[in-house]
Amino acid sequence: MKIRNRLTLLFTGMIAALLLLFAWVVYVSYSHDREDEYYKTLQQQAVTKANLLLDAKVSPEVLQLIYKNTAGSRSQEEVAVYDTAFNLLYHDAVNIDKVKETRQMIEEIIKNREITFHTGRLQVVGFLYPHNGTDYIITAAAEDEYGLRQLQHLFRTLAITFLVAVVFVFLVAQFFSRQALKPVSDMVDKVEDITATNLDLRLAAAGKDEIAELAQTFNRMLDRLEQSFDAQKQFVSNISHELRTPLTAMMAELEITASRDRPAEEYRQSMRHAIADAQRLVKLSNSLLDLAKASYDPSEINFREIRLDEVLMDARSAILQAHPEYKINVVFEEADDDDMVSVNGNEYLLKVAFINLLENGCKFSTPPETTVTVTWFKAHTILRFADEGIGMSKEDLPHIFTPFYRGDNRPYADGNGIGLSLALKIVRLHKGNISVVSKPGHGTTFTVELPHI
Ligand code: ADP
Repeated sequence: MKIRNRLTLLFTGMIAALLLLFAWVVYVSYSHDREDEYYKTLQQQAVTKANLLLDAKVSPEVLQLIYKNTAGSRSQEEVAVYDTAFNLLYHDAVNIDKVKETRQMIEEIIKNREITFHTGRLQVVGFLYPHNGTDYIITAAAEDEYGLRQLQHLFRTLAITFLVAVVFVFLVAQFFSRQALKPVSDMVDKVEDITATNLDLRLAAAGKDEIAELAQTFNRMLDRLEQSFDAQKQFVSNISHELRTPLTAMMAELEITASRDRPAEEYRQSMRHAIADAQRLVKLSNSLLDLAKASYDPSEINFREIRLDEVLMDARSAILQAHPEYKINVVFEEADDDDMVSVNGNEYLLKVAFINLLENGCKFSTPPETTVTVTWFKAHTILRFADEGIGMSKEDLPHIFTPFYRGDNRPYADGNGIGLSLALKIVRLHKGNISVVSKPGHGTTFTVELPHI
């Protein structure tokens, strides 16, 4: 059920219950009052009749005649007078006899001095009436025609008012709940319009209420989604660009070479170029694979205790094997302490990160040389990758960790712009941090901090 309908029903139900309670209290209290009043009236009229009989000595026949003349009316009370020995002294109409007095009833009246009860619609009162030193028992019965009609009228009025009020409250509640939830339904309509192709749409989020807060939160989520969507698009287009460039170069070279007969040396040259392009492609696909691995859920990556100095030396050997002309110096600033260089990490990924940093240091400097200094401070092992190469501009610094970004100095060395973003991802995965200082013409230093064991 929609919240709007639920609110309407809840509100209407609550008001209906209150109204019902109110109506019930009014009805019951009026009904009791009427009943009590009528018992009093009955008693007074019975006493008047008894006085006529006992004091004014009006003959029973006259009193009965008066009763008979008005007996058509149900509200005419029927009075009976007994002595305490249950002898009937007077009865308005023995043949009609609305109440059958019994000895037991008379005894109960003597005991309680007064009793009241109903027989059908009739109200009956029986009471002890002391008169001139003698106790009489008087019973009187009649129907409160007028009072009951009033009660019925009250019931009808209350019932109609109740129904009208409930319908009215229902309509009002529906109107207000619709008004209150209108921003939500507007929001739903708007959200329905947002698709992958128009992620730039935003919800109206004016005001300070909860709905505006929800809209603002939703808008912020859309911002993030749009950003990551754009980043994904950019990423895919970068990948295809990076793939296309060497492929096009390779095809062009091979086509030209194949277009006519050439000397053997030219074929060899062309094949060497094709191999270089293929190597670039292999490197790119390896980097992308590593990027994908570093993007796994950390719980899926195998972490264990490893020594950073060992990983660093492995990375160094791997680079030197591919580029014997590079020079990589490793300096340990502190005395050997296993714990200070041991981290909980993934050996393969950390090696990839170190290779990228070492390789960058060498390829952006002449002669190609990088020095790594290993030290520790408090809870972190610190590795500084420093080179004295061409450095990079201030403008490039904020962007170098963005995938596929290559700085102004890119003509200086081959690359695909993935290395640093990959290194950052890996270091972050190990709850570490990476920072950079660089000065054009003077060199660059990357500082990696990783929490040690
Ligand atoms: P790639 O090296 O393949 O271009 P990276 O992601 O490793 O990609 O680096 C991004 C950019 O950062 C490089 O293109 C370069 O402009 C700059 N850079 C990284 N390391 C260095 C360095 N040691 N010296 C100078 N510039 C660097």
